[in-house]
Amino acid sequence: MTTMLNVGRPTRPEGVSDKAAPAPGTGARGLMQDEPLIFELGGWDKTGVDFADDAGDADLSDLAGLTRAEPVTLPGLSEPETMRHYVRLSQKNHAIDLALYPLGSCTMKHNPRLNEKMARLPGFSDIHPLQPVSTVQGALALMDQLSHWLKTLTGMPAVALSPKAGAHGELCGLLAIRAAHEARGDARKTVLVPTSAHGTNPATAAQAGYAVREIAQTADGRVDLADLADKLGPDVAAVMVTNPNTCGLFERDVMEIARLTHAAGAYFYCDGANFNAIVGRVRPGDLGVDAMHINLHKTFSTPHGGGGPGAGPVVLSAALAPFAPKPWVVARDGGAFALVEESEGEAAAALGRLCAFHGQMGMYVRALSYMLSHGADGLRQVAEDAVLNANYIKARLSVAMTPAFPDGPCMHEALFDDHWLEDTGVTTLDFAKAMIDAGFHPMTMYFPLVVHGAMLIEPTETESRRELDRFCDAMLDLAAAAKAGEVDRFKGAPFHAPLRRLDETLAARKPRLRWTAEA
Ligand SMILES: *Cc1c(COP(=O)(O)O)cnc(C)c1O
Repeated sequence: MTTMLNVGRPTRPEGVSDKAAPAPGTGARGLMQDEPLIFELGGWDKTGVDFADDAGDADLSDLAGLTRAEPVTLPGLSEPETMRHYVRLSQKNHAIDLALYPLGSCTMKHNPRLNEKMARLPGFSDIHPLQPVSTVQGALALMDQLSHWLKTLTGMPAVALSPKAGAHGELCGLLAIRAAHEARGDARKTVLVPTSAHGTNPATAAQAGYAVREIAQTADGRVDLADLADKLGPDVAAVMVTNPNTCGLFERDVMEIARLTHAAGAYFYCDGANFNAIVGRVRPGDLGVDAMHINLHKTFSTPHGGGGPGAGPVVLSAALAPFAPKPWVVARDGGAFALVEESEGEAAAALGRLCAFHGQMGMYVRALSYMLSHGADGLRQVAEDAVLNANYIKARLSVAMTPAFPDGPCMHEALFDDHWLEDTGVTTLDFAKAMIDAGFHPMTMYFPLVVHGAMLIEPTETESRRELDRFCDAMLDLAAAAKAGEVDRFKGAPFHAPLRRLDETLAARKPRLRWTAEA
C-alpha cells in the first residue's frame, strides 16, 4: 500500500523532557470581535488594488445594449477592511480546525490537508462535467477506483456515487427499493424505522411516498426483534436500521433483522452514517444489507459543508443494483472509461438521475486520498481508534455523568442521559451552552429521542489523548460546578461567545435570511 511520508518529523532537543506539557487552558476568552454585515459597514467609495486584466480594455460596445447603465450597489471597502471583515466572520463559529467538535453522530473528524492538496491538482479541480469523456479519463478512473474501494470495504456489488449527502443517499436507496418492488408489480406502502432513528430516516421514507411505522427498542438500546417480527408483513417495503445505531451500540441481532426482513419480502436499508466505527472490520454486505449510504464527510474525512458540497454514495446489493440511478462509469476493453447514460439491462435507469452531472468530484478525490493514504489496515485502525477514543471518554466521564447504557463498551460515541443533573436546576441545554464558554462545541443534545435529556459525544479517531483529556477535564469541571449548585454559570451561558443565549425556536420559526436597509 501507499507509504506515508513523515514530513519533517520533529526531534526532541537535548535536555528537554518528553513529559507532555500541561494541557493549556481552552483559550476561549476575550478577543470576541463584534462584526456587522458588510452592507452595514458603510464603505461605498473605496476599492482594492489589482493589476488590470489582460482583457480589461476589451471593446464592450457589442453587448447588444446589455451594458449596465447603473452601478451595482456593492460595498466599497479597502483591502484590509475587507480581509478583517471576513476573518472576523470566520471566527464567529466553532470549527474542527479550532478544537475538538464532539457532535455525536456527525463524525467531526480532522480533514487531512493531504486530501486538500490532491483535490487542488489542476487535473481534478479544473475540469468541467460537460467536457468530452475522452478528456476526463483520469477523473473517471478515480471514480472507478473510489467505487472499487467502497464496494470492497462494504462487501457490496454496486455503488451509486451521485447522491450529495447522507439524506440524499437514503432517498436514492429508498427510490431504488421502490423501483425494485414496482418492477415486480408489488406496491408496498410501509417502511419500518426504529424509535431511535435519525430524523432523516422517517423523513426520507415519507418523501419517497411511504407510511412510516416505528419499531420499539429494548432496554439495552437495540431493535426489539419481537416488535419487528410483529410489524413485518406483506405491506412492508423496507426496514431502515442504523448500525452501529444512534445510541452508539452495535445491533447484535443485525443478521436476524436481515433474515426476518427478507423472509417478509422487504429490503434491508442500513443507515451507514456510523460506518466509521466498523470500517475495515465488518462488511455490511455480509450482514444481509441491501442498501446503505456512506457519508464521505463522516467516515472518509471530507469536509462537512453547510448542507453541501457533500457526497453520500449508496452501496447496493445484487437485487437492487439494476435500479441504481444513472450515469454509470463503465470500464471498456482496452482500459478506457465511458459514462453510460442510456439504459443497459432490464430495469436500468428506473430512477433516472438524482442530480445534474455526476456528483461531487472534489469529495471523491478527498475520500480516495484518505483511503489510499491509510490503506486497508489503516482504515481498520481508524475504526478501532474511533471506538477506543469514545470508550476513553465514556470511562472518564462516567464518574460524574450517567451513561445511558452503562453495561459494556460503546462503539464510536458515548451516550449519557440527564439523570445525574436531577435536582441541580441545570438542564442538558444549559450544560451544552456552558461548554461553549469552555471552548468546545456542544455535544449532540436530546438525540436520540429514546434517552432522557440525551448527551451524545463522538470524539472521532483524529483526537489525541491530550485533546481528549483537555475535553474531559473541562466536562468534569462543569459537572462539578453543576453539582455544587453554581446554577448561574449555566443558566446565562454562553458568556464568552459573540452572542448570548439564542431563541432557537424563534430562529427556526421566523428566520431572518435577507438583509434590508430598513431592518
Ligand atoms: C449524519 C446522519 C445522517 C444524514 O446525513 P447527511 O449527510 O447529514 O445528510 C443520517 N443518519 C445518521 C445516523 C446520521 O448521523
